Amino acid sequence: MAKLKLPVYKKEELTVRIEDLTYQGLGVAKVAGYPLFIKEALPGEEVVVKVEKLGKHFGYAKALKWLRTSGDRVKTKAKYLQTGIAPLMHLSYPAQLAFKQKLIKDLLTKAHLDQLEVAQTLGMAQPYAYRNKAQVPVRQVRGQLEIGFFKQGSHDFVSLEDFYIQDKRIDQVLVTVRDILRKYQLSAYDEKSHTGVVRHLMVRRGYYSKQVMVVIVTRTKKLPHAPEIARDIMAACPDVVSLLHNVNEAKTNVILGSKTELLAGQAEIEDQLDGLTFKISTQSFYQINPTQTERLYQTAIKQAGLTGKETVIDAYCGIGTISLSMARHANKVYGVEIVPQAIADAKRNAAVNKLTNLTFEVGEAESWMATWQAQGIKPDVIMVDPPRKGLTESLITSATAMAPKKIVYVSCNPATLVRDLQSFIAKGYQVAAPIQPVDQFPQTTHVECVVLITRVGK
Ligand code: SAH
Repeated sequence: MAKLKLPVYKKEELTVRIEDLTYQGLGVAKVAGYPLFIKEALPGEEVVVKVEKLGKHFGYAKALKWLRTSGDRVKTKAKYLQTGIAPLMHLSYPAQLAFKQKLIKDLLTKAHLDQLEVAQTLGMAQPYAYRNKAQVPVRQVRGQLEIGFFKQGSHDFVSLEDFYIQDKRIDQVLVTVRDILRKYQLSAYDEKSHTGVVRHLMVRRGYYSKQVMVVIVTRTKKLPHAPEIARDIMAACPDVVSLLHNVNEAKTNVILGSKTELLAGQAEIEDQLDGLTFKISTQSFYQINPTQTERLYQTAIKQAGLTGKETVIDAYCGIGTISLSMARHANKVYGVEIVPQAIADAKRNAAVNKLTNLTFEVGEAESWMATWQAQGIKPDVIMVDPPRKGLTESLITSATAMAPKKIVYVSCNPATLVRDLQSFIAKGYQVAAPIQPVDQFPQTTHVECVVLITRVGK
């Protein structure tokens, strides 16, 4: 095979100008058209880099020295956080919001959909300490049990007490629990040898309710000193209303195992969202940025243009958060979701909020839509909020076959969103309002947005 002729060679040091930022937050420089991706470098900067890795179509380089820095660069207090928890924290918040808007615009341009507008990203007033849930690894460092995080894409553990993007009270509870575990000399998990006891601590906190849930995840079936640990945690943290022990014996990256026992208090906490009450258990999927989730849902409800008369389908309904929010403004809401426990939660949440105009089903949205259509159900609005992989062609087919006037798409991945928009357009639908990004995950590269899709003609 002929050797590739690239404009740079490995270990070469050169000065480059950063032109762009990838969706992962890496700076992009081009050398004779060949892109080099550079960690921590920002658009507009001039940087001396060393080439580290070369591929056929792009390579990676390491920033050695900045000759010119960007006006959007901010000093980061704890630089290492950037490599794990907050990959965009070196970029000013207004620039982060602009980056998320541009990312969608660039994808639309590539898909020949440049005519579609993207509104300014709705940001947070205080873009940190927003996470209502923490899942932190526990490891032994120099003989001591520590909480912390792993550097991105690695097994490098960094001990930490201030997690920056988590609710501050969650950080305090984590440190208190860590100290109590130390007091009883519990050992931390070791991945390599699959030994040790405590693997993770999970803490959730209701934004409005202020109720705290703590879950201690162990490799072993037993939590040594469980009664003493429970007593100390409950005494030290009066806001902990739910303390659980979860067992995960497997060699896996998955955090929670299937067995959970109650150590003290109750099995779940509750919180409010848009004035509705939701019960949240250990395994429930619940949006992690409460104030921005309210803005996201309000945007979706506004775009759906509900007047109280509509029939709505919520096709990826989870524990029913969007379904319940919409049910207050619609005649009837049908929710479908693939995880049975989530549907059990959704039904209970409807009852807790005394809402009776909802029907929930377990299964694939694709097949339930066909069933509902066969039953003669005619939705005015179909709401879709799929996982990162986006919609399947068969979902788009069954949704458009029901001929709803409006489809509201909440997306957590602009790449699959743009792909799906092309399919909707090919099936006689159009994007009817500027795409609205909502910043659910400040300091990270994640982009969430809401899109209104309407039927062309009648
Ligand atoms: N709308 C909810 C949940 C969104 S997350 C909220 O805002 O909280 C996406 C959900 O889609 C997950 O709960 C996942 O279990 C579900 N899901 C994934 N594939 C599905 C499918 N084919 N049919 C129905 N639900 C699916």
